[in-house]
Amino acid sequence: MEPEYKHNCPGCTYLNTIEQHSKVYDLYYCTPSQVVGPGTVVVRKGNEPSDYLMGTEFAGFNPLLSIAAIHAIAKDLLSIEELKWYIADKI
Ligand SMILES: [Zn+2]
Repeated sequence: MEPEYKHNCPGCTYLNTIEQHSKVYDLYYCTPSQVVGPGTVVVRKGNEPSDYLMGTEFAGFNPLLSIAAIHAIAKDLLSIEELKWYIADKI
């Protein structure tokens, strides 16, 4: 699978592209090399630089970020324990 949209972040690992109700979303996991710490899930929904959502801490509220988190777990970029920590911290 190839990304649908332009995305120029060198820290991002492409996870998958999903389609839902005729809308297409590219899923990424971002691990900025300069920053020590966990990465974050990213969902791109268009080519404009601002056409994205991000934040593992919002995966409990936003289904698209939740799906990105599941794909990141499947690729071993994020652990279930990390996701639980992010979600539990925000509830
Ligand atoms: Zn990135």
